[in-house]
Amino acid sequence: MKIARFSHDGAINFGIIDETDLVVLAADPMFGGFETTGERVPIADAVLLAPVIPRSKVVCVGKNYADHAKEMGGEAPAEPLLFLKPNTSVIGPNDRIVLPSLSDRIEHEGELAVVIGSVARNVRAEDAASVIFGHTIGNDVTARDLQKKDGQWTRAKGFDTFCPLGPVIETEFSLDGATIETRVNGDVRQQAPLSDMIHSVAEIIAYASAVFTLLPGDVILTGTPAGVGPIVSGDTVEVAVTGLGVLRNTAA
Ligand code: MG
Repeated sequence: MKIARFSHDGAINFGIIDETDLVVLAADPMFGGFETTGERVPIADAVLLAPVIPRSKVVCVGKNYADHAKEMGGEAPAEPLLFLKPNTSVIGPNDRIVLPSLSDRIEHEGELAVVIGSVARNVRAEDAASVIFGHTIGNDVTARDLQKKDGQWTRAKGFDTFCPLGPVIETEFSLDGATIETRVNGDVRQQAPLSDMIHSVAEIIAYASAVFTLLPGDVILTGTPAGVGPIVSGDTVEVAVTGLGVLRNTAA
């Protein structure tokens, strides 16, 4: 099932994608279930929004693909390398990535995103699926020059608009055979099977939930494959994941 959050006629609602329509839900399905109102809205008449606004945090994993760790000039760390993006960095599909004047080098990082659906603390890897609400696509936009300059990554990763999410949450996603591809103005920059991830989604949830409690609506970005590169004003970035659609944003 594909869940969208959308605005239409001045109201924000959640809906289930049914071909060209949104079947309107009575509540946020993460908390209120999948009861429908009976109303349908053509997708073409709606504005899709970020499908989730993280309740407390976006948890990110750095260097979770060996070829990306290599292009960054090192080896992948033995354990997941965690950092956070603030929830104020989240934008939705087709929203603009605002390039901050504080940076001269802003790069795309297409990533699989996991949406947490229940309170998760010390979750074992074998139980991780039970705390997942669904999957979507993320772009871990990064000011590469500030990342190198600062040593720690809060500023480089945390600007407003630096976490596009969407277009929908798929509640039945399977990684089996799925690939991720990032394109800039149609040119393929990153392409990899999701099976190239070093630490699996289950391992990441276990590792992160041993550190801090994950709340419903928190999002995990699972790392980016090789091929990261700059985006400049006017560029359109598309991140596509098999079965999840395409997350498209233009930089300005
Ligand atoms: Mg990243």
